[in-house]
Amino acid sequence: MPEPTDEILTVEGVVKAFGALRAVDGISFSVRRGEIFGVAGPNGSGKSTLFNLVTSIPFAADTGSIRFEGTPIERMAPHRICRLGVARTFQKDAEFPTLSVIDNVMTGAVYGRVGRGDGDDRAAAIDALAFVGLPGSDHDRLAGELSVFDKKRLMIASALASKPRLLLLDEPASGLTKPEIDSLIHLIRRINTTGVTVLLIEHVLALLLTVSQRLMVLNQGRVLTTGLPDDVVRDPRVIEAYLGSRGRRDDAAA
Ligand code: ADP
Ligand code: MG
Repeated sequence: MPEPTDEILTVEGVVKAFGALRAVDGISFSVRRGEIFGVAGPNGSGKSTLFNLVTSIPFAADTGSIRFEGTPIERMAPHRICRLGVARTFQKDAEFPTLSVIDNVMTGAVYGRVGRGDGDDRAAAIDALAFVGLPGSDHDRLAGELSVFDKKRLMIASALASKPRLLLLDEPASGLTKPEIDSLIHLIRRINTTGVTVLLIEHVLALLLTVSQRLMVLNQGRVLTTGLPDDVVRDPRVIEAYLGSRGRRDDAAA
């Protein structure tokens, strides 16, 4: 068994600029194997861009280093990063709407495959769908016809089918009802219990406080603070970032 302090992901000084805007402006942090690590921050603070840089989907960092289990991945092709054991979901819907549910998840299995046969891809997809709670009666439905919550679960199943050791979830709770969010929290915990390290973005702090062992808050492309959730939410700089400078009370609510 790895030591609890073993770092699965190490990010050092990553930068991504879009013209004059430094969306990610020198971010460094590390994630420990086995933890649920939350990433918070107001809209536009660079959270999704950071996930893009870690997975190289759709672009890599301008500068800085990213290591997964000690292997440098900052210049690696996206499918190779996935095959090493890193999978992600997207903030917006990303299913193939005209493919069936099972074919969507098999796509994830094939993308992450290292030397498995076709039969194993289907088995991996069926396992992943069962794990997220999408019933067999949905397997042949078109993915585009699913409800908002089922599309989220489909996207998580597609990621899980690639057999990741590190899973990045980008705002999985957006658009969900309260009972659905409770169910999602349960699912994230179950994924983590199977040994998958989770990196979780939410701009609504309440969900992150419930599930994260540690929490990093970004603001304007930089790390504002990293620590235990209870300490982080009491940090006056965090309160300022959420409420003060932007005046968006809804960001910190709920
Ligand atoms: P968050 O996920 O924290 O809401 P993002 O990482 O999506 O923030 O965006 C950070 C900043 O970078 C925002 O100002 C956003 O408009 C900008 N940005 C993100 N992606 C692109 C892109 N592909 N081209 C230009 N600007 C972008
Ligand atoms: Mg985002």
